[in-house]
Amino acid sequence: MILRLSRLFVRTLREDPVDAEVPSHKLLVRAGYVRRAAPGIYSWLPLGLRVLRKVEGIVREEMDGIGAQELSFPALLPREPYEASNRWTTYGDGIFRLKDRRGGDYLLGPTHEEMFTLAVKDLYSSYKDLPVWLYQIQTKYRDEARPRAGVLRGREFIMKDSYSFDVSDEGLDRSYAAHREAYVRIFDRLGFDYAIVKATSGAMGGSRSEEFLARADSGEDTYVRCTSCDYAANVEAVEVRPEPARSTEGLPAAHAEQTPATPTIDTLVAHLNEKHPRDDRAWTAGDTLKNVLLVLKHPDGTREPLAVGLPGDREVDQKRLEGQLEPIEVEPMDEAELAKHPALVKGYIGPGVLGEENASGIRYLVDPRVVDGTAWVTGADVDGSHVLDLVAGRDFTADGTIEAAEVRDGDPCPSCDDGVLESARGIEMGHIFQLGRWFAEALDLRVLDENGKLVTVTMGSYGIGVTRAVAAIAEGTHDDLGLCWPREVAPADVHVVATGKDASVFEYADALAAGLEGRGVEVLYDDRPKVSPGVKFKDAELLGVPTLVVVGRGLADGVVEVRDRRTGDKREVAVDDALEQVLAEVRPGA
Ligand code: ATP
Ligand code: MG
Repeated sequence: MILRLSRLFVRTLREDPVDAEVPSHKLLVRAGYVRRAAPGIYSWLPLGLRVLRKVEGIVREEMDGIGAQELSFPALLPREPYEASNRWTTYGDGIFRLKDRRGGDYLLGPTHEEMFTLAVKDLYSSYKDLPVWLYQIQTKYRDEARPRAGVLRGREFIMKDSYSFDVSDEGLDRSYAAHREAYVRIFDRLGFDYAIVKATSGAMGGSRSEEFLARADSGEDTYVRCTSCDYAANVEAVEVRPEPARSTEGLPAAHAEQTPATPTIDTLVAHLNEKHPRDDRAWTAGDTLKNVLLVLKHPDGTREPLAVGLPGDREVDQKRLEGQLEPIEVEPMDEAELAKHPALVKGYIGPGVLGEENASGIRYLVDPRVVDGTAWVTGADVDGSHVLDLVAGRDFTADGTIEAAEVRDGDPCPSCDDGVLESARGIEMGHIFQLGRWFAEALDLRVLDENGKLVTVTMGSYGIGVTRAVAAIAEGTHDDLGLCWPREVAPADVHVVATGKDASVFEYADALAAGLEGRGVEVLYDDRPKVSPGVKFKDAELLGVPTLVVVGRGLADGVVEVRDRRTGDKREVAVDDALEQVLAEVRPGA
């Protein structure tokens, strides 16, 4: 195949699009790979589509390689299956809903668990049919609150989603492992730097859950890794390792003290150090128990207050909290709502009034660091007063614990005794998780087991963002000059640039392009007659094909130049040998 730039449907831009912030977005638009149609909705032009198809091809090969079977569900879906799983409601504003001419409810599928589950239910009825692994590479629709960074977070995007169906937990483990291996191969082939991190499994429960993150400073996900062991987790999934409960024996009794004008942690700590100094060391924010009032917004619109108790030196991390409560959203409790709870004294709220059994009736969850036997300074539920030496488990009990506190660099590793956590950012490329029996339960997917007994099937769910991968690869591989595609996904293998006005240059370049094509090489050929060499080189750098062949002045001396787009290395090769030299470059080891 030869793509002639004189005819190719592409127009490169010298200026960055005004709405673009991250490099991949700027470059994909400037290089004429994608075009914005509406916020978060993009058209794919020929070069972009070629990259997209290559990514799809790699995903397809590796999925087929483990024995998964490809099928395709519609994007336009009826309401009923999503009603059965309750996701018609829980998706809230996140999905596009529409009505047909008869008034029937439809949606554009944001993900297809329901369809896969129902298809297996229709076709299969016995353990003998299982395991089965099904996948599709298909367009999804989500009305994202913040579409961003071009195709990185779109409202229309392509996802590979696969699902495994097993009778036993061990079967699910095997299906999960096979998918994990396929993912490792896919991301290795896609050619960028990634991390595999522990993830939350959200509302559907499930056990194992991991994300594949492309390492990128522009990523929306923060993950942590241990400086000593191989622990790595999305911050949402970090679970603090609680210390064992301590003995309360000999601990002083709790006592309320006047602490006027100390509604903040800073003012409280200053007051404590002045009026109630400790013998051993100074008071710090970490000695205080801060109680944060929040409102949970359930998908059906109901609102529920929640109090979270955590050490005063940490803030509530809303994303982490929502990760535990999904699909529930969280917002701070505002003054008006606070005023509805007379037991709450702003700035001095303590466990005395919190909890379902106490005056406020508000559910009270504490950070796992608040273990039994730890002593705290906290609000006395009276204006200008705090309690000292209030001991968890002795003087108060919460309704449970929750991972809501921010994770910080330097926090101890939850998995080993030596390391500490350090954070980095990434782009979620793929997510594999064990759904378990949640969907099968909701949609009644059961099969007969070996003993003729009906059992509920257990499922795994495995996604890859295919359009997002194109942007993530661009993000991870570009340089100052433009895109820089890894060979496996590049829109062409070689970019032949013919420069100058000399007819012999074009004749030779034509022949070289045809010769390469004849050997199965994909050639992008800049055959534009009246375009300056400077413009051609700038375009070649922007478009990012890995190997460049420059046919120009050197031809008179019997040489052409072969350039490596990534390293910038150049070498001259004899015209007679150019074809073989380029082949060796494009197919190293072939
Ligand atoms: P995110 O947290 O980034 O919104 P998600 O948890 O909603 O992702 P999944 O529902 O697990 O994502 O979807 C599987 C994969 O689809 C993701 O790993 C991601 O690569 C891709 N994906 C999800 N949402 C989008 C989007 N809006 N645009 C492009 N790709 C997406
Ligand atoms: Mg999402």
